Amino acid sequence: MSQPNGGTFDIVILGAGSGGYAAALRAAELDLSVALIDKAELGGTCLHRGCIPTKALLHAAEIADQTRESEQFGVKADLVGIDMAGVNAYKDGVVARLYKGLQGLLKQDKITLVQGAGKLVAKDTVEVDGQRYTGRNVILATGSYSRSLPGLEVDGQRVIASEHALKLDRVPSSAIVLGGGVIGVEFASVWKSFGADVTILEALPRLVAAEDEEISKTVERAFRKRKINFKVGKPFEKVEHTENGVRATIAGGETVEAEVLLVAVGRGPTTANLGYEQQGITLDRGFVITNERLHTGVGNIYAVGDIVPGLQLAHRGFQQGIFVAEEIAGLKPAPIDEAGIPRVTYSDPEIASVGLTETKAKEQYGADKVSTYNYNLGGNGKSQILKTAGFVKLVRLNDGPVLGVHMVGARMGELVGEAQLIYNWEAFPEEVAQLVHAHPTQNEALGEAFLALSGKPLHAHS
Ligand SMILES: Cc1cc2nc3c(=O)[nH]c(=O)nc-3n(C[C@H](O)[C@H](O)[C@H](O)COP(=O)(O)OP(=O)(O)OC[C@H]3O[C@@H](n4cnc5c(N)ncnc54)[C@H](O)[C@@H]3O)c2cc1C
Repeated sequence: MSQPNGGTFDIVILGAGSGGYAAALRAAELDLSVALIDKAELGGTCLHRGCIPTKALLHAAEIADQTRESEQFGVKADLVGIDMAGVNAYKDGVVARLYKGLQGLLKQDKITLVQGAGKLVAKDTVEVDGQRYTGRNVILATGSYSRSLPGLEVDGQRVIASEHALKLDRVPSSAIVLGGGVIGVEFASVWKSFGADVTILEALPRLVAAEDEEISKTVERAFRKRKINFKVGKPFEKVEHTENGVRATIAGGETVEAEVLLVAVGRGPTTANLGYEQQGITLDRGFVITNERLHTGVGNIYAVGDIVPGLQLAHRGFQQGIFVAEEIAGLKPAPIDEAGIPRVTYSDPEIASVGLTETKAKEQYGADKVSTYNYNLGGNGKSQILKTAGFVKLVRLNDGPVLGVHMVGARMGELVGEAQLIYNWEAFPEEVAQLVHAHPTQNEALGEAFLALSGKPLHAHS
């Protein structure tokens, strides 16, 4: 593709990740002309270094576990080993097919794709290699990068970030995962399934601390059973190189040694030296501050995705991109409710949630106004067939709608679609209880939980 030489467009978008390309596609559907600028590959973090490759690894990990555990289903199979070249070929193949599809979508929609590093040089202009792209509107979508801690140098060999972990050509014999959030527990889960000895170090008092407390407890119990080591509540102090790897020290002086250390302590916004502040845009610790309509307060400049404070998730980026394109087209879309964005952690066990945790709901509405119900997957036929444990937890406003759904167990991510409809449509448990769930599915666990919360439990032990 030949590089365009600047020009004027309805929208100039800086960054072609989930947020940026979603805005471009929706804007094109609305007959707006778009220049979409990226210094790397179209698709951004999620497609190339995030969601898709990690979920491919997690699927390979699941196959390894199922092979290892096949005898409990009466199937005889031996796990001979993990061929990382084969795993990586499978993972890269998935990414390549999706990348090709996305390139086709952009072409079909006649979006002008500009390859190169851009900088905001005026309130309506992004400059790339000396060429100026002027937009009646500008959308900032420059995404995020793997953060580290002060004094902790990521060398890409022994101390690595997620982008390096995705490219490893071997399964490390042992790994320290610094950070027990989503990215940390997903890699811990993969490496354990592939045969590594794994230790998670988390400064907060529990793993997946953003989730409901009962979810954390169940994940910790499951990880103990899987022999994934973890130490919580003690901040990391330092890492040193040893002869064959690294040694990490946590508060109190305890040390852990391993072949590699994965730094998974969160992602920082990519906003430095891009001209944002010079144009008057407000940054808070690097994040772009917007109003609820994602406008920065400067000119016709909007921001979407990981640079906007909140959940750093691809589908939030997609939705924000669609929102801003529609806003620019004058469609006046409804603002996005951040609590209504579903969250999934694809570890084993899987975690899925939407809405408020029990603690948050009680803070917001008062403890006496909120009820909860936990449905144990032990009563769900399909979960028994899969031999998985966990629960579905509902949080409701008394005599009011569902405020939160929290689930843990194999394949729970697939149930979050129904859960998010229930939350976002402000359904009452009694309304959901009238709807029929197919038997035997794991969706039934949701149905059963709603039956029980409406006072008419079916397969529920009290
Ligand atoms: C390991 C990992 C696993 C993840 N798994 C999931 C998951 O399962 N589900 C989920 O929902 N989310 C997941 N995420 C998060 C998801 O990837 C992000 O939320 C999403 O990519 C954010 O989209 P974005 O458009 O804001 O930014 P990005 O996808 O980061 O895209 C930003 C783009 O801007 C470009 N850019 C930056 N600066 C410039 C510049 N100066 N000039 C030109 N281009 C520039 C970059 O090259 C990049 O392509 C994961 C992330 C990681 C790291």
